[in-house]
Amino acid sequence: MTWDELEKTCLGCTKCELCKTRTNVVFGVGNRDAEVLFVGEGPGESEDKQGEPFVGRAGKLLDTMLAIIDLDRNKNVYIANIVKCRPPKNRDPLQSEQDACIGYLRAQFALLRPKIVVCLGRIAAAKIIRADFKITKEHGVWYDKNGIKFMAIYHPAALLRDPSKKPDTFLDLKELKRQIEATCDHTYD
Ligand code: SF4
Repeated sequence: MTWDELEKTCLGCTKCELCKTRTNVVFGVGNRDAEVLFVGEGPGESEDKQGEPFVGRAGKLLDTMLAIIDLDRNKNVYIANIVKCRPPKNRDPLQSEQDACIGYLRAQFALLRPKIVVCLGRIAAAKIIRADFKITKEHGVWYDKNGIKFMAIYHPAALLRDPSKKPDTFLDLKELKRQIEATCDHTYD
């Protein structure tokens, strides 16, 4: 399946109840040749309206965080979510919704073949790295699966709620940059 075929299928998806309340399916954004994939949990209100991940306040902060380490959604990363439709009132996506939707992320992963995956927040990390992932203890820690490096950092919305987490995230971003320089071929070209 090509990127365009996958996106077309996803945009018409009715596999879970979230299709009934969404405005737009939020498929993903970024460079489809990126070596670094960022994964959040799901779209919020602004994302649902605009059809793009991380465009609200948390998204602006994410862009700033990326810029600190020379990453840019229009240039050298890809950004997607576990669920592609907004959970009502920004509740956490249900496990059944995540299970219904995860195939799209897996297909994106297969097309992208990233070298590094960064989970944004606990829910993405629990789905991708380990079900009992503890973000407060394990943010910034690398996990290797089949030669691919996985790390989680705090979700930018969590940083907006609790700015005391920002220094830890700054260190995690520095570590991410180090890993990109050691692992990737063309991210910083
Ligand atoms: S959240 Fe995913 S599985 Fe559910 S309707 Fe949207 S695209 Fe389909």
